[in-house]
Amino acid sequence: MLQNTDQKAPGFSRGRNDPSLLDQEPLSGYHVASRGQGSNTPGGSEGGPMLVFEYKMDAAQAQYARMDEAIRSAQFVRNKCLRLWMDTPGTSANDLQVHCSQLAHDFPFAAQLNSQARQARSALAWRAISRFYANCQAKVPGKKDYPCFQHNNRSVEYKVTGWKLDPDGRHLTFTDGCDIGRVRLIGTRSIETLPLDQIKRVRLVRRADGYYVQCCVDAERHVEHVPTGQPVGIDLGLRVFSTDSAGKTVETPRFLRKAERRIKRLQRQVSRKYRPERRKQAKQPQSHNYRKARKKLAKAHLKVQRQREDFARKAASALVSSHDLIAYEAVQIRNLVKNHRLAKSLHDAAWGRFLLWVGYYVRLHGVPLIAVPPQYTTQACSGCGTLVQKTLSTRTHVCWHCGLILDRDEHAARNILALALVSWRTSPHSPRLLGGSRPYRRAGGNGLGMTERTLGDMGPLACSERWERVKPGG
Ligand SMILES: [Zn+2]
Repeated sequence: MLQNTDQKAPGFSRGRNDPSLLDQEPLSGYHVASRGQGSNTPGGSEGGPMLVFEYKMDAAQAQYARMDEAIRSAQFVRNKCLRLWMDTPGTSANDLQVHCSQLAHDFPFAAQLNSQARQARSALAWRAISRFYANCQAKVPGKKDYPCFQHNNRSVEYKVTGWKLDPDGRHLTFTDGCDIGRVRLIGTRSIETLPLDQIKRVRLVRRADGYYVQCCVDAERHVEHVPTGQPVGIDLGLRVFSTDSAGKTVETPRFLRKAERRIKRLQRQVSRKYRPERRKQAKQPQSHNYRKARKKLAKAHLKVQRQREDFARKAASALVSSHDLIAYEAVQIRNLVKNHRLAKSLHDAAWGRFLLWVGYYVRLHGVPLIAVPPQYTTQACSGCGTLVQKTLSTRTHVCWHCGLILDRDEHAARNILALALVSWRTSPHSPRLLGGSRPYRRAGGNGLGMTERTLGDMGPLACSERWERVKPGG
């Protein structure tokens, strides 16, 4: 029994025997974020945050057909660019751009698509290629993301030409050779008040329930953060979505689980209407009823997707706006999902979307976000640092050493916060935050400038902490 007292996770214990945290090497694994894309744009490839105004489109059936045509042409351009890269060693991004105009010369339907829209597609092809190169160079374990041919493209992106916005902001005209024409925009945001040259991209997106247009605007959103003096650590879970260090919980919405019965029924209907012989022998299209059933299923999935997104966004916004520092556990969701018993629930909880939005709001509010390595956050006692082994089903932390009894998740959240605060105070970027003064200043460095830096654009936070598991009895 006695020998177990040595089993501690350093960093948790506050005893006087602690080695100075400052003397050790930095641990990669901590970072202060701006995580994710940093804005609500799914990708402004010119860099920098962009705002996206999204509208549903109202148009005639013939116009929708031409939109499909444009989307297909865009896919064609991307796939042809990829083909060129596969066939010709040493192809560069510029070669792909040149190839675009060659394609327009050879294929009349490709020429109909706006030239900048073609080039945007080849840039996307290059992005896939360079990601593959980067993965190879970084020796990422497992698959390297070799670029694939696209067969289900749903969007086409125009840059600053090929479209025209009416002065009322309610109508958009596509002016390229695809002949889509004028469409009505359905939505509440008024884009007409913005200068026209701030609209850098116009994207046409097809979804299960209709066609949408996204206008990417080169503008930043500003929010005045009201300081609350409250730092918080959060522990994400499946039974409850999140538990914070003050013991507050947010319920898991379980959108998929609620919609599952309906989705399963719709999926059965789709399967029943599928005729393999039509595909195999005659290459005929599937029946009209099959397509209707498929559309219903797609809409049901779209609804779940939107519910998750909405929840993630609201939960993230509520969290960030009511705290001054946020710490979370840097779990590798990709690895957790490999557990097939948990995968569906994990995906349904949508931690990734939530953290992405937390990253966005953190940037907006200028609040620090600190990721803590997940080791020992559940096991080490937040009172004395003793490791208390738990299985997944143990819901309460009971420390045999100091007698601390706490809910498992709340206890983990406290540990996460404590670790984050240690790394935050010792970081050279840390400004005077949370009312308290910093306990020590790092030797070297100018000691200045750190309070002047805005929190929003901080680089990675170097942490001066390392954990080593002390062997029992050692
Ligand atoms: Zn304890």
